[in-house]
Amino acid sequence: MTTTDLYPELDTALAVRWRELNARLADIQRRYPDAALASSLAAEDMVLTHALYGGGPDLEVFTLDTGRLHAETLGVLDAVRERYGREVTVYRPDAQAVERHVAQHGAYAFYESVDLRKACCQIRKVEPLKRALAGRGAWITGQRRAQSTTRGELPLEEDDKTFGLYKFNPLAEWSEEEVWSVIRALGIPYNPLHDQGYPSIGCEPCTRAIRPGEDLRAGRWWWESSDSKECGLHAGNRVISVVARAE
Ligand code: SF4
Repeated sequence: MTTTDLYPELDTALAVRWRELNARLADIQRRYPDAALASSLAAEDMVLTHALYGGGPDLEVFTLDTGRLHAETLGVLDAVRERYGREVTVYRPDAQAVERHVAQHGAYAFYESVDLRKACCQIRKVEPLKRALAGRGAWITGQRRAQSTTRGELPLEEDDKTFGLYKFNPLAEWSEEEVWSVIRALGIPYNPLHDQGYPSIGCEPCTRAIRPGEDLRAGRWWWESSDSKECGLHAGNRVISVVARAE
């Protein structure tokens, strides 16, 4: 049976991509049975969720509910439950740490300085991620090289020294067009904000829609320079000088 016969909804090039992705995920499961997908519930993560929850390698999917997400983003959790009959595990920040930070700096301190923004991300994202990764041998992300200046050299797999485990980026080589072609062909549920000019979606106060021609992550922490635009989850990413284009 040919690859196209296996995936009749996909054209030949996409069927090859999909077969490669499934082989990569199966390889990850064989090497690290406790690996999990850290999902931001964005388009790339939905492609991976479909591969894992739609009959592929059975690995856990989790997300971080920072307490500042759009209602549309939280709605994706319901869409996954409806479509796959599976739950995405949700990790939340320590309520007391959030309260302390807000009491000391205010609810919108992230606009004041990069340090305060990083402190908020540390409490709402990094610490919950550490809890989610504790005891695991590896994690999986939906990052792609073409997304931004900080992801241009993204490897397919790497030793994540920040969190002390292995990290896989199985969509590193995928283009934005390939992501959306697979989503449409397979009817994968996605965040409706993507149809409103949000290619990259984070917390509501730190994300805006982008204009035509802008970097895909230009709407994230748009008041900061492009080389500081990681939240600490992918601290190992390196900045390259060539501005990545949307493909
Ligand atoms: S993205 Fe913004 S609101 Fe969300 S954790 Fe980071 S600074 Fe806080």
